[in-house]
Amino acid sequence: MGEYYRDLKIGCCETIKQMREEEIISVKDQVADPKISPFYVMGDYLAEGMWYRFPFPEEDGTNWRVERDWEKHIEIPLPEGFDIYDVKHGTMTFSTASIHGTSGNTNIFIPCIQSKEFKEGGLKHSQGLSNKCIWIYMKIRRDGILQTVFKCPYCGACFRMDGSDLQKIKDSLYARTDAEYYGREKDYWKKVADRL
Ligand SMILES: [Zn+2]
Repeated sequence: MGEYYRDLKIGCCETIKQMREEEIISVKDQVADPKISPFYVMGDYLAEGMWYRFPFPEEDGTNWRVERDWEKHIEIPLPEGFDIYDVKHGTMTFSTASIHGTSGNTNIFIPCIQSKEFKEGGLKHSQGLSNKCIWIYMKIRRDGILQTVFKCPYCGACFRMDGSDLQKIKDSLYARTDAEYYGREKDYWKKVADRL
């Protein structure tokens, strides 16, 4: 089911990809979608378990009424020695047709490359997996706290972090140098880390 603010689709199924929580708060008393109900206000989206857009620094002050890229994310490498084995990863699917171009096709399901099952299963990948990474993806309100949702880009598993794990991710961003701004504004990574 789609979620709407007037004629603007803002998400679906309790996942608001168009707006940050703070942007919803700014219009919380306004009727969400008069076509559905004059009693349903934007503030009704401010509930436990709702997902919101991550506050990407480059979108600060931009107009949320203009369509945004719903799959926007920030990809970051995992800190040295950091793994995400506790996450409930999914599988990666390969088809034999894509490998050999055969007419008969078989799908092969492999544990996510960043999972414990992959490592313990004796599976191999090419050397120098410098691409161990996660996405900073969305926000979710859980236990009354607005928390960051991370995503494993290989299998799509979404997860949260807290305590020392979250701090390690933050520290890795605080430690980023000017050379790693990749054309972004100064203090970009500090801003991102502050918002995790
Ligand atoms: Zn994964």
